Amino acid sequence: MTARLALFGTCRSCGASLSWAKTASGKSIPLDPSPKPEGRFVLVDDGGRRPLAMLAATYDPEIVRDSPRYDDHFKACPHAGAWSE
Ligand SMILES: [Zn+2]
Repeated sequence: MTARLALFGTCRSCGASLSWAKTASGKSIPLDPSPKPEGRFVLVDDGGRRPLAMLAATYDPEIVRDSPRYDDHFKACPHAGAWSE
């Protein structure tokens, strides 16, 4: 079961739109809301408020094949060095 991006926010550093997910270890991770074919993550619905972001490279290939993929915003943010969240 894959999840849709639900929670939107804004990057405090560059003002870009973000969607929040969480990693397998429970940490919050900001994603760029536009899917990318080469994105690092697929989203999985685990019943929580935030979708779970799983690494596409190591997740179930059948699910990865049929799912939109997203990149984390740290990679794209022009001010990534200033992030404190
Ligand atoms: Zn940013």
